Parts: sequence; C-alpha cells; structure tokens
Amino acid sequence: MNMPPTSRRQTLKQLVGMTALGAINALRLPRAMAAETAPPLSIAGFGGKVISRQDPDYELWRESMVWHLSKPTRAPDVIVQAKSDKDVIAAVNYAAAHKLKVAVRSGGHNSNGSALRDTGMLIDLSAMEEIKIDKVKQIASIQSGVRSLDLVNAARDKGLSFPVPHCPSVGLGGFTLGGGMGWNWSQRGGMATFSITGAEIVTADGRLVHATATENPDLYWAVRGVGPGFFGVVTRLHLQLYPLPKAILASSYIFPLADLETVTSTLEAIRKEHDVGRVEIITVLMHHPEVPADAPPEKSKICFFTAFAFEENEEKARQVLQPFAQSALATKCLVKMENQPFNFEGLYEHYFSLNDPAGRCARYAVDNVLTDQGGKTLQALAAHFRTAPTKDCHVLAAFNLQIKPATDACFSWVADCFVGCYAIWDDEQDDPRMFAWLGKTLPLMDPFAKGHYVNEIEGRGHPDRYRQCFSDANWQRLQQLRQKHDPKGVFHHYLGLS
Ligand SMILES: Cc1cc2nc3c(=O)[nH]c(=O)nc-3n(C[C@H](O)[C@H](O)[C@H](O)COP(=O)(O)OP(=O)(O)OC[C@H]3O[C@@H](n4cnc5c(N)ncnc54)[C@H](O)[C@@H]3O)c2cc1C
Repeated sequence: MNMPPTSRRQTLKQLVGMTALGAINALRLPRAMAAETAPPLSIAGFGGKVISRQDPDYELWRESMVWHLSKPTRAPDVIVQAKSDKDVIAAVNYAAAHKLKVAVRSGGHNSNGSALRDTGMLIDLSAMEEIKIDKVKQIASIQSGVRSLDLVNAARDKGLSFPVPHCPSVGLGGFTLGGGMGWNWSQRGGMATFSITGAEIVTADGRLVHATATENPDLYWAVRGVGPGFFGVVTRLHLQLYPLPKAILASSYIFPLADLETVTSTLEAIRKEHDVGRVEIITVLMHHPEVPADAPPEKSKICFFTAFAFEENEEKARQVLQPFAQSALATKCLVKMENQPFNFEGLYEHYFSLNDPAGRCARYAVDNVLTDQGGKTLQALAAHFRTAPTKDCHVLAAFNLQIKPATDACFSWVADCFVGCYAIWDDEQDDPRMFAWLGKTLPLMDPFAKGHYVNEIEGRGHPDRYRQCFSDANWQRLQQLRQKHDPKGVFHHYLGLS
C-alpha cells in the first residue's frame, strides 16, 4: 500500500480487468452495429433501431442492455433504441396497441438487470445523450441516456458541478430516478433526486408531459425517488447544478479489519466534537487489493476510511479535514494518505477503483440499509464479512448523507448513512453461494434500517424488498398514481411485482 499513486493504480487496473472505458465501449457496440441489420418490424413514426427476437443480433443486444455480467435470462419480444422524444412516443403507442408491456433502460447499471423483462418491449434510451446547460440559471437539461462522466465534463466547462455517480459509466436516468448518492452528497442534499427540478415524461397514453413542482406535481413527486418501477418514460431531466468546488482533497486511513471499532468510535467522537457535516465520508470493508484471494482474513481484510472535502479553496479543504488528521485515525492506522488533491476525473480514476471494486464489470449483487447507526451496522457485519467468498466482495458505508425531509419527493428516508453489501464474482457456478452469502447480510444489517435504497437492493426473487424502500404512505400513493397514469398496465411494475 505504500506505493506511489500511479503504480498503485496500474496494479489495481490489472486486478480489476475491464476498465470503465472498456465497459462503456462494450455498451456502445450495438450502436455501431445499428446500420448492419434490417429492422424486422416497422413502428410508425419511429426513427431509431428496432431489434426483435428474429434478428440475428438479438442476443448481443439483449445482453448488452445490462452492464454487469449477471445477465438475466429474461427476454423482451422487441428492443427499440430511441433517438428522440418522438421515437419514444411512437414506441409507447405501438406497445400499447399491441399489448407489449414496456420496460425502460438508460445506462443499464441496475444490479438486478431490471430493464430486461420477459416478453413485451424494452425501450433503450442510451442513444439519447444530449446535454444543454444554462449557466445563468445553473440548470442542466439532459436526455436520459447521459452518463456520469459526460455530465461532469459538460458542467465543469461552465464552472459547475452535479452530484454524479461515483463511477463514470453509470446512467443518470436510473441513478437520479432512484435516489442517487453522488460525489459531494453531504453538500448536495444526500440524494441527487432532490436536484431534479423538472422532467419530460412520455405517459402510458403516449403524451409528452412536463413535470415540475407546479405542473403535473404528482408525476414530479414520483420521479424523485421511484427507482426501477416508474409508470412512464422519462426522456429528459432538468437538474439543479452547483458551483464547481475549486479544491477537492481526500484523506484516507487504512486499518486491519480487527480495528474496525477504533474507526467507528473515532468517527463518532469526531462528529460529536467538530462540525464535519460537509465532509463526504466513506468507509469500506474490503480485501487488501495486493494480498492473494486465499490469504486468511486477518492478513487480508481491511477497513479503508476516506474523508473527502469539496471546498472553495485548498486552505478551507485542509481545515475541514483537520479533525481527522488530529484523531486516532491518523495515529493508529496502518497507512495514511492525507490531503491528496483531486479533480472529479481523478476521483473516478483513483478512488473509485481503489476503494470500490464494484467498478469492475463482473457478476454482481447488492443489498443495503439506510440507517442512523452506520458504525453499529458495520460492526454487525464485520464477522460475516470475514467469510466473504471472493476478494471483490465488500461493504461500503456512506456517512453524512444530510438528507432533509421532503414532501415533494417519493424518496422516503431521512437517514445519516447508507450501508451496502456487495457480492462480486466471476463464475456462474458460484451464483448460489454468492447469493447465499449476500442473503446472510440482511438479518445482520436490517435491524439497524430506517429503510432501504431502491437502486441497490437485491430484488431478484425478493420483490417485497422494493416495497420496503418506501414509507407506507409513499408506497400507497405510488400505487394510486400508477393506477391513475397507467390504468391499462402499459408499463412493467418493479421486478417480480405485477
Ligand atoms: C459501477 C456502479 C457504480 C454505481 N455507483 C453509484 C453511486 O455512486 N451512487 C449511487 O447512488 N448508485 C450507484 N450505482 C447504482 C445505480 O444508481 C443504479 O444501478 C441505477 O439503477 C443505474 O442507473 P442506469 O440508468 O445505469 O440503470 P438502468 O439499468 O438503465 O435503469 C434501471 C431502471 O430504472 C428505470 N429507469 C431508468 N431510466 C429510466 C427512464 N429514463 N425513465 C423511466 N424509468 C427509467 C427502469 O425501470 C430501469 O430498469 C452504481 C452502480 C454500478 C453498477
């Protein structure tokens, strides 16, 4: 761990195999093939690409709809790749007329592969990637296929930023609709969904409607947190942007897993004694990246703590990180890397791959709690984490979410911390034991839950988990709105629900 950042990055890239860019290119492959295959069925007014089951490239398209390698066997009758609002309207009208139930895909990163459903039509929005930025109003108007890195670049050019996902290829469509813990969450309302100021939505009856706090407010309420169970297609999002932080510094402290208690109790003390509410804090229980997979847990499992400061200038950033540098984190850790400067691209490149093997394209399952007891939840998971079947499995705690209660969003939980358990593996034969390992984390972490985050739950085989992502009142209102806006059931429900 005491290598300079560059060589550490190289080693990690070798370890993680497919880079984020590789993953993006893999996703883009079907787009490049678009001209080579003839559309097998014709949808009036549709100018995009149509791929039905008879198409020789159907399987390639089907699999590319899901980013990770746990490809569902679920298969829609037809996949349509839209290029415009008009295409989406034509596709929804066609689907409604032909009783094809509609699923939607933006970036394809959902861990359950929820965009892939059996039968019906999948509308792929990944070719709709326009970004317009109003610098004066500090609003980005983006089509739903835009990815994290694209918005970082476009906003930065205007001196602005958005709380984008921590990995460059994640789709902004699914990310923002479900919640969205983006970079700098502590200063950006915890979840990016609260920064949606408006949305363009194609409804089940084929109309394009605008939803804001004052226009179609019930649809506006629903898109802010609904996740992978919306009863419409969001073609465009209007997002509040924020001034670009001029200085980003990160301080990391690495401990053996056995010292987790030192980390959580020190963090608790720091937060009691100092005003560190604006700092993004991530604690990851992980396998040391440079220790062999079969090494015993006491030699391989670590706790990787990082505090990120996003500030106006470097002096202020150093100041807000000072309480961490003056604590037992700094004096008792195995390794420390303090006040490291970053820009957003650097955060992706360095911290995401180092801290979170979820950036690796592999087989993938995740579940989580939103809690006010992040330290206790980590403690409760630690012993089970020692039994993690692969070296990429990890537990990630995101502290200081700073979510405010909101009546204009269906996102339901005001919680300090997200704790996610990630099972990541390569071999399909390992599916049963990996799902079993993840399944055992639920009774350990659920007692601390206020609720769950809908974008990162294991819904395959556990449809009730979706229900648990919302308060009773919000869930009921979502069902009423579904009935009102999609009475004929044009759109798929959450995976496993009908
Ligand atoms: C590598 C990686 C990194 C991640 N990093 C973060 C992170 O930093 N913070 C965080 O909070 N989450 C993160 N996630 C989780 C992420 O928020 C979810 O996977 C999210 O669903 C991804 O959105 P997507 O558009 O790529 O997914 P998709 O699979 O395309 O969409 C998921 C579902 O959302 C619905 N949906 C998507 N777009 C639309 C639309 N335009 N209209 C209507 N419904 C729609 C559909 O039901 C769809 O099935 C990460 C995931 C991965 C794999």
